[in-house]
Amino acid sequence: MIRVRFAPSPTGFLHIGGLRTALYNYLFAKKQGGKFLLRIEDTDATRFVPEALADITESMRWAGIEWDEGPDIGGDFAPYTQSERQEIYQKYVQQLIESGFAYYAFDTPEDWEAKKLSLIESGVQQPKYDASLRLEMQNSLSLSTEEVAQKLADGVAHVIRLKMPETGTVTVKDLIRGAVTFDYQQSDDQILIKSDGLPTYHLANIVDDHEMQITHVIRGEEWLSSVPKHLYLYECLGWKAPEFCHLSLILSPTGGKLSKRKAEESGVHVSVKDYRAAGYLPSALCNFLISLGWNDGTDREIYEYLSEIMPVFDLQRVSPSPVQLAIDKLNWIQQQHFKTADKLPLATASAPNFEGKLSLEKVKEALELMKERISFPQELLSFSYLWEAPTQFEEKPMSKAIKADTPELLQDFIQKISDLSDYSTQNLEKILHEVVESRELGVGRLMMPVRLALTGVGGGAGIYDLMLFFGKEESLSRLRSFL
Ligand code: GLU
Repeated sequence: MIRVRFAPSPTGFLHIGGLRTALYNYLFAKKQGGKFLLRIEDTDATRFVPEALADITESMRWAGIEWDEGPDIGGDFAPYTQSERQEIYQKYVQQLIESGFAYYAFDTPEDWEAKKLSLIESGVQQPKYDASLRLEMQNSLSLSTEEVAQKLADGVAHVIRLKMPETGTVTVKDLIRGAVTFDYQQSDDQILIKSDGLPTYHLANIVDDHEMQITHVIRGEEWLSSVPKHLYLYECLGWKAPEFCHLSLILSPTGGKLSKRKAEESGVHVSVKDYRAAGYLPSALCNFLISLGWNDGTDREIYEYLSEIMPVFDLQRVSPSPVQLAIDKLNWIQQQHFKTADKLPLATASAPNFEGKLSLEKVKEALELMKERISFPQELLSFSYLWEAPTQFEEKPMSKAIKADTPELLQDFIQKISDLSDYSTQNLEKILHEVVESRELGVGRLMMPVRLALTGVGGGAGIYDLMLFFGKEESLSRLRSFL
């Protein structure tokens, strides 16, 4: 059975790149009847942001992603929060020490900084705590067994490091990148347990992926360079490694990594929560993020629901090349989704903005009425004629539309509306046609004045729909005062 996980670190609000990773994992697993897990990787206490946890789960649920196992719902492999799994990591790190794959290191951060500095001065470009150096440092490889035992007994601060092989290569068969080979020499002796006793991401991640029976690791490209350490850890622990897939980076609209600063400079958001606040539909944001670097092989771009993408989703079709965040494309997708979206929840969410202007029911109707012209509910606010009769009239269309016989046409139309027993768009259209056709005039002669009377502007939704929206009394009142 396919088992995948989304494993965010609660160091900030859910990033759109994170949401895309979660979506790809989710689609990949669900298409094949597999399980999708949520795991919280909170081993870095210094970067922990308390609000991040709630934001991650809220944003994922908003996006329509449900997990089969996770911190809030449990599962066979609970707990799903790494800070609650300390004993498990301790057990395995002891195993690594006993089998000689890991060692205690007592160097203080200052010792290591000083060592690095002296190495840099002597010409080493990027000093690494590795096979070339470990015997020059204070650790259980360089010190005697007695010295080590004494330090441990005295409670001397220490970390536990992975003893990486000195030479050799390792190859990962990445699902979208193909074979990628790494030289072990490029990896340092990764810290597995920090001086605060907590595991690093690298140890906890491998242990949990194994314990939680993860079959496929689908994550951001930034982790590709960690793969040699991870594969080596699997080997040391005698475990089979999962399959790997490293997704491309999302670049800022101006190029370069989509950092918070860069994004702000280009006027785009990076947190899912900001897209929510701006009124993007979850279906539109998901459609957009999934299509960043993926298509189904046709030129189809709009999928209204995740369930529509699922049957055609294929991880192999995800491009390994970095993709630029094209906000214009997102806005276009939003527009398409907005047209067909159920307007009631949108109206409910935006009703407070229209207090004293439109009732909830009217907000909903207005969203439907204006769906070809707006992409976000709050855009309705710029159409004040929706809740108050116009007092100003756009000059250019006025000068074109108003002719000597306009009052007579309007008068006739007003009379016919008043006589209507069934006030419907069909009947309104019928009587407007009667008014002009009886005089052998074109419909434009009356349509434009009616539009101006109702809205004050020369363009907008269809006039019969507008008249239905305003209702008979209000429409008549606007026409009369215009007359
Ligand atoms: N905690 C890591 C992150 O937030 C997870 C990386 C992985 O999926 O292995 O990016």
